[in-house]
Amino acid sequence: MLSSKPIYDYLVIGGGSGGLASARRASGIHGAKVALIEAQHRLGGTCVNVGCVPKKVMWNAASVAEALRDAKHYGFGDQEPVKFNWELMKEKRDAYVKRLNGIYERNLGNDKVEHIQGFASFVNENTVRVQTSESESIEVHANKILIATGGHPLIPDIPGSNYGIDSDGFFDLEHQPKRVAVVGTGYIGVELAGIFNTLGTQTTIFSRTKQILRSFDNIIKDNLLKEMQSVGVNFAFDSKVNALVRESENGPITIQYESDGKPETLEVDCVVWAVGRLPNIKKLNLEAANVKINEKGYIIADAYQQTTQENVLALGDACGVAELTPVAIAAGRKLSDRLFGGEQFKDSKLDYENIPTVVFSHPTAGTIGYTEDQAREKFGTENVKTYTSKFTNMYFSMLEHKEPTAYKLVCAGDDEKVVGVHILGRGSDEILQGFGVAVRMGATKANFDSCVAIHPTAAEELVTMR
Ligand code: FAD
Ligand code: NDP
Repeated sequence: MLSSKPIYDYLVIGGGSGGLASARRASGIHGAKVALIEAQHRLGGTCVNVGCVPKKVMWNAASVAEALRDAKHYGFGDQEPVKFNWELMKEKRDAYVKRLNGIYERNLGNDKVEHIQGFASFVNENTVRVQTSESESIEVHANKILIATGGHPLIPDIPGSNYGIDSDGFFDLEHQPKRVAVVGTGYIGVELAGIFNTLGTQTTIFSRTKQILRSFDNIIKDNLLKEMQSVGVNFAFDSKVNALVRESENGPITIQYESDGKPETLEVDCVVWAVGRLPNIKKLNLEAANVKINEKGYIIADAYQQTTQENVLALGDACGVAELTPVAIAAGRKLSDRLFGGEQFKDSKLDYENIPTVVFSHPTAGTIGYTEDQAREKFGTENVKTYTSKFTNMYFSMLEHKEPTAYKLVCAGDDEKVVGVHILGRGSDEILQGFGVAVRMGATKANFDSCVAIHPTAAEELVTMR
């Protein structure tokens, strides 16, 4: 059965970070007639359901585990080790996410965005077909259509790969595995491995190089790798996973792999694929709207989120640039301002330069701007000066294990403009935001130094570097 709806000013495909933000800004602030299509039965997309939110809850749980271990060094006596209850944590986490789903639903209603549940695909540049059930679909027409369909985890095409889980599967785990292998050393691999290890799972990371977080500055990746090794994470470097073998349902998994060219095996209870993500575009029928994708399969969109088709916009993970929730949200709001906000917003767009980002590792790592290598290439080695500091945060003065803190400022030109800040250490996730503002304002090293230090903190080191 096919039925039809009225013409909307704006039709948003995808009820995740970017889509929700853009739809609500267009309708709630600018009064446009807006509908939003979401394929799943819950709103919020990756971040809320299988990303930032449940991940941060698990990172918090791991941080509590660390604090409990540290407690005796701060005079709390020898406590019995407290057992972590994964099952309870999952139940509470799921309930929290469900509450958020409800809030997102209500917010859409408050901003008068019509929510259509179903899977969308293009009929043409102004029309989308929504499969609302197995036998029913509707056609929705709009002057402008936004693609904010996000992405999904990549699973490698090797024998037995289906025995592994991905980051979505991590959040479905009902029980804590005793032994886990995480394949991939990007954001997700490092974060999930850190959570597992801190909560007491024997953890091995498979890296196809000798590094982790390959695109980050050396001060972060080298020091974090050493720290992860020192707290017991195992690494299989220069490795290539060839197959997963499982003899019985729910039995252990044997990983067949090569490391340094030599064949090896490892038995674990759970394998997590964290080898990257792909855009959700497969069944969107983009050809019908003449929307083009690039060589990596992501939707081509310019600085104004404009695709190759005039009436179709795209943003967020579907475009593959800076795949972060605040980026999708900011791009979505700026776009709605431009489309529906009138003359004063006609040039509104997100500036993708200098986006701060944090890895929720143990300890956390934060970065904004150019790495040292990138700066040397961009500005010329003779025009780049770096300031580094490695020290022990005072918190660890009472502990046997001394977690590292390592900071680097990358400065360029005669005025030593700070073009990169890279920090690893306790609290880096919270410290970076303010320094991000300074970098975006074009602060120089002298500006950093002119700010009186806050003592005793770790961050004071960033304004006292020599
Ligand atoms: P999404 O939020 O993925 O939303 C897309 C929505 O579109 C989905 O709900 C999907 O169901 C829907 N959809 C897809 N196709 C269709 C269709 N054809 N019809 C209808 N609906 C459709 N970012 C951070 O900033 N900080 C973090 O700490 C962080 N942690 C992360 C941890 C993990 C494990 C993962 C996987 C990601 C994390 N991210 C984090 C990244 C962040 O989640 C994404 O960048 C962000 O969610 C992208 O928003 P989006 O709007 O582009 O897509
Ligand atoms: P990333 O691109 O960050 O990392 C992918 C990793 O997989 C890399 O380490 C890569 O290795 C490795 N890899 C790729 N193919 C293979 C293979 N065949 N075998 C072994 N390893 C392989 O992707 P993620 O999926 O981790 O994260 C996706 C994005 O989500 C991030 O870029 C980030 O934008 C966002 N995110 C943000 C978070 C945050 O803000 N805290 C948290 C989680 C995700 P190599 O380095 O050698 O290329």
